[in-house]
Amino acid sequence: MQVLVIGSGYVGLVAAACFAEAGHHILGVDVDAAKVATLTRGESPIFEPGLDDLLAKHLATGALRFTTDLQAGIADADAAFICVGTPQSEDGSADMKYVLAVAGQIGKAMALRAKEAKPLIVVDKSTVPVGTAARVHAEIAAHTDRTFEVVSNPEFLREGSAIGDFLEPDRVVVGCRTDHAEAVMKGLYQPFLDRSGGKWFRMDPPSAELTKYAANAMLALRISFINEIANLAECVGADVDHVKTAIGADHRIGPAFLNPGPGFGGSCFPKDLQALLKVGREYGQPMMTLATTVEANRHQKQVLLRKVKEHFGVKAGVPAPLKDRRFALWGLAFKANTDDIRESMALELIDGLVNLGAEVVVHDFAAMGAVKAKIGDKVRYAETPLAACEGADALLIATEWPQYREADLEAVAKALKTRRLFDGRNLFRPEAMEAGGWSYHSLGRRAVE
Ligand code: NAD
Repeated sequence: MQVLVIGSGYVGLVAAACFAEAGHHILGVDVDAAKVATLTRGESPIFEPGLDDLLAKHLATGALRFTTDLQAGIADADAAFICVGTPQSEDGSADMKYVLAVAGQIGKAMALRAKEAKPLIVVDKSTVPVGTAARVHAEIAAHTDRTFEVVSNPEFLREGSAIGDFLEPDRVVVGCRTDHAEAVMKGLYQPFLDRSGGKWFRMDPPSAELTKYAANAMLALRISFINEIANLAECVGADVDHVKTAIGADHRIGPAFLNPGPGFGGSCFPKDLQALLKVGREYGQPMMTLATTVEANRHQKQVLLRKVKEHFGVKAGVPAPLKDRRFALWGLAFKANTDDIRESMALELIDGLVNLGAEVVVHDFAAMGAVKAKIGDKVRYAETPLAACEGADALLIATEWPQYREADLEAVAKALKTRRLFDGRNLFRPEAMEAGGWSYHSLGRRAVE
């Protein structure tokens, strides 16, 4: 099939590369000319494991091309995927200006299609509020009399494992009204479902749109839930590792997404929760568990800072109480295997420490460039995890990069001034750290002073 993929960010690039892998002809479109130039040179503008190889492979075969000109591929396209951003507006709602702008551009470009051409399948893949398929339809229809159908096909990939998630999905959700639309979408996705044994769900567009928000809200809720259980475990002398394993063994609960952490971030959960809350307000429907999830997460994002302040005896009203302290911070991305720092808790931690007068030396395997561009010399940047620890009063871990778990802790201890670790990802066990002579503070387990 001939497919337009509009928007070459995390979702659009992965979709474009994976559809090319399935044997389709893909034209990737982005308004960002620099990004298109980078892609055309065969370089990926984002860090996503496996993406570089797929891009190189299909740029070489010609199955995948990039352009800034949406009109270039519209005449022959079977489907056009809208994969542009839907950031949070001031009032919490999803900002639809990029999606609607693309819809308008598609509408105008439709004149290039033959009158007798099959209906173009326009796919909302961006995460969009209920009712967007209808709005996109109206926006396109305002410019053209050619036939088309708008389909909702929310994306569930996770940054860091996006290629695997796309090539082997648990499920594909398609909100459409006609068999033709379903057939086109099946033609694109069936090879992936054949590989994964994943499920196909056809439904109406509003249900598909709500499914995406409901899925993210459920996951965020689980995270906030286990974080609260972890916080309580510390108070009552329980160990959250035991608790999460035992509750996860109940098949009604399951083990996934039960790892306590320093609050969720990223480009999706925070904004999608706000968007869903906004929809609830619009319809006068209280979304109380969601509101609490957001509040619990705001509190959790301070968890490491609270532990540091408590440990170092920081008192309110004392100016720059940590001015003689240096902290090494491992991990800047909102999670491992990505360079994405949107809503990352590490940035809040940096702010908190710097506001208390501390010096912060940071390391990350992929996100240093993004952080440098955002906060410049507010912190120092270390080439290696070990170099970040040189002369620091404590090490803080915010992102669960697997390499950190494998670190040589004796070498780390030698680099630090004191064997002191605040572990926001529970990478180590308190017993082992105690045996190694560390002061060790993690989440939901006893602190080793
Ligand atoms: P992104 O910001 O990484 O990429 C968006 C791209 O769209 C940018 O390259 C931008 O230049 C381009 N763009 C904007 N306007 C355009 C236009 N008129 N024409 C062509 N290109 C245009 O965003 P993302 O992370 O890929 O997310 C895209 C959507 O997918 C969002 O709605 C997001 O919520 C959703 N989503 C994201 C993820 C994720 O993990 N990132 C997962 C599932 C769903």
